Amino acid sequence: MSHITPIRHFEGSRKALGQMARVEDTRAAAESFRKDMLAGPKVKYYESFNLVRVPYPTRYGLRNAFPRERVVEFLHLQNRLFVVQFETTEGLKTLLMSPSDHERNGETPYFRRLQDTTPEIMQRVFVLRQDTVPDIVARIGLRPEDIDYISYDHLHTQDVRRWLGTRHQPGVFPNAKLLVHEREWASALDLNPYQADWYCPNGIADIPADRIVRFEGDIMLGEGVALIHTPGHTEGNHSLVVHTDEGLWVTSENGISADAYAPLQSTIAGVAKYARTIGTEVIINGNTLENSIDQYISMVQEKTIAGPSMRDPRFPNVFTSSEMTPAWFSPGTKPAFLVNKAVHGKVSRPSR
Ligand SMILES: [Zn+2]
Repeated sequence: MSHITPIRHFEGSRKALGQMARVEDTRAAAESFRKDMLAGPKVKYYESFNLVRVPYPTRYGLRNAFPRERVVEFLHLQNRLFVVQFETTEGLKTLLMSPSDHERNGETPYFRRLQDTTPEIMQRVFVLRQDTVPDIVARIGLRPEDIDYISYDHLHTQDVRRWLGTRHQPGVFPNAKLLVHEREWASALDLNPYQADWYCPNGIADIPADRIVRFEGDIMLGEGVALIHTPGHTEGNHSLVVHTDEGLWVTSENGISADAYAPLQSTIAGVAKYARTIGTEVIINGNTLENSIDQYISMVQEKTIAGPSMRDPRFPNVFTSSEMTPAWFSPGTKPAFLVNKAVHGKVSRPSR
């Protein structure tokens, strides 16, 4: 993987003793990184695809901002797959970002309990399966062997065995390697009970070691695409940064909506008021609360790298991997700004 190179911009940016000094040092580093990314080449292809819409507790997704008196227990997250193709010194590479397994995610203990206690008719309203990863890959004209990498901003709810295979069974994508931050990998192998509630049991068990690429810090994967360590939502969380005709798209789940990165502009119940009251510039998505202070810094980092959206400059160009999406049965949960879909360039079938 000699085409993967380290990024140095953020080294030491969180070292200050003062909390806001860390935020401002990281913001300055993010501005400089953004400038360098924008001066460089773009990726060849980038497209988002809807996979599944799932319920998620408002008290986690909008951490204290959504008013409790509204008694709306769940908001809804649109989970997406991102397909990225980019040039490297070793030729064109294809990355699947956030390829959730269409069947296994529900085995995550938190969701398992939810399913077991929710009548089936309600489940059909709450959970909307739209597409599967293999169907999307086939539809855009790629063969399973064309996939070089898969990655997730963090490993909550993920089961990678169907894609990568195990020592006993071949996977769907015979050449794909998992790109994972070393902190996320180490965490996922040794979870405490609060974390384990959100990780799919055995989701990374028995994966052959040569299918896993662990990285430290921040990396350039190739032309126009970077993975940046953005701890908070989990310790080993990372964000995908992709240079396209719409500028730099930044993807993770530290926040669940562009609104969460510009809360004063938000129309979600309670969010703008909460942000004004406590003076925060982001609303963090915390279900496990591993590291909220770092999450605040990471969200400032993400929105600074992203810069203003060309669709609506009041919001940063963040495209969260699970985007909060309105549902009639959850009043008050409609964001002011939804990304919905993004496409850049054209997919091409790599020569093998
Ligand atoms: Zn998560």
